[in-house]
Amino acid sequence: MNVRDSEIVAQLLTQQGYRPAPEISEANLIVLNTCAIRAKAEQKMFSFLGSLRTHKEKHPDVKICVLGCVAQQLGDTITKRMAHVDLVVGTQQLYQLPSLLEDPRNRVAVELLEDFAIPEIVSPETEPDHPSTQPPSASRFVTIMQGCNNFCAYCVVPYTRGREQSRAKEDIIDEIEQHVARGVKEITLLGQNVNSYGSTNPVTADGSPYSFAHLVRDVAKIPGLRRIRFTTSHPKDLSPELIQCFAELPTLCPHLHLPVQSGSNRILTLMNRRYRREAYLALVETLKIARPDIAITTDIIVGFPGETETDFADTMALLESARFHGSFSFKYSDRAGTSAQSMPDKVEETIKAERLRTFQHRQEKISLEHNQKYIDHIVEVMVESSRQDSLMGRTGTNHIVHIAPTDTQFSPGELVNLRITHAGPHALRGAVAPAHS
Ligand code: SAH
Ligand code: SF4
Repeated sequence: MNVRDSEIVAQLLTQQGYRPAPEISEANLIVLNTCAIRAKAEQKMFSFLGSLRTHKEKHPDVKICVLGCVAQQLGDTITKRMAHVDLVVGTQQLYQLPSLLEDPRNRVAVELLEDFAIPEIVSPETEPDHPSTQPPSASRFVTIMQGCNNFCAYCVVPYTRGREQSRAKEDIIDEIEQHVARGVKEITLLGQNVNSYGSTNPVTADGSPYSFAHLVRDVAKIPGLRRIRFTTSHPKDLSPELIQCFAELPTLCPHLHLPVQSGSNRILTLMNRRYRREAYLALVETLKIARPDIAITTDIIVGFPGETETDFADTMALLESARFHGSFSFKYSDRAGTSAQSMPDKVEETIKAERLRTFQHRQEKISLEHNQKYIDHIVEVMVESSRQDSLMGRTGTNHIVHIAPTDTQFSPGELVNLRITHAGPHALRGAVAPAHS
């Protein structure tokens, strides 16, 4: 979502005549987009801003602007701590960045509206030119909703991005059609919880009910679109209709990122996740029946307040049952304003680190076992980088495949059949198979 926000800002600034600078040292305007999900991201922001202080002293005309969730959460704390920062812009105001930049009296714009609707986003036709060395991407993100109403106990997102609001269905379809007309082959639908799309505000012109599964089916009808992905899904809202889409729609990629967070029912309750491990594992089974080749990935938090060795053992046991193709795993990090922040029995840093290592070590082995099964199989890969020295693409299951050097020229977005020759825990390697499309 931050990548997409950065693209939007780049687009808005391009319309105002700005151009990307080759180096930070040559820029008149430095825009830093920030993430508040864990404390580490926030610390990185401060250390980066600190490193710009002498630059600003030498070049007082350079404007420094901070956007995103940390900007939203800290507001004028940033300008107080970092006086060389000119402008702090929150998650809903980023659409106004060009006009905010016009008046130097603007320092902090972080208002958060209850019923914020994503403005008509600049159409893909006005997207900034890519630097000439990079061909336009065949894969794009499309935001379908903003905010989140789930209030998972550890999570800062509902506070930094406000209430859930879904974009009108017609706007989304229109944006995707424009992308496809410009050669885009793959779309990733974005939202904090795409499964609840359309459930908090009307998304159709006549107000008729319309769910995420409906949207996926309508997107799949757009001619020329070869791959559809989406992220993120909350397990409690994963509907049978959406699972059915995996069974029926060949352009819906056989990959689902389904964050479980913990394998312990006690911790899931404390996290306010509103599902049990048994229900989660049942979803995994149903998905595998609907789409036998599906790859399921997840997010895990270790060391949530009160997590005991038994709770952690439940997470490890869930990993054995679900056998995720991959996962993102994190040490619990205290975030200001969340309900977990005031929970008792915080887990020690060393224990969190040890649990994280244990989890990641086992996950790596499982990922490798999955990946080795692709050896000697033919997989369809969408080319992402066509540079001869780093030819690579991605399978529908979202595996990165490095492509052995070949005389054939590929362009980004092209679908190629490859025979897999090597497998590591994080990527595959393959060579062009005889017949490719
Ligand atoms: N809306 C998405 C993504 C949320 S943020 C979802 O619900 O899945 C991405 C991941 O960051 C989360 O899934 C969670 O695993 C992790 N995360 C969020 N808050 C965290 C915290 N306070 N400490 C550690 N990890 C956290
Ligand atoms: Fe955060 Fe939970 Fe919302 Fe995801 S669903 S953004 S984890 S509150």
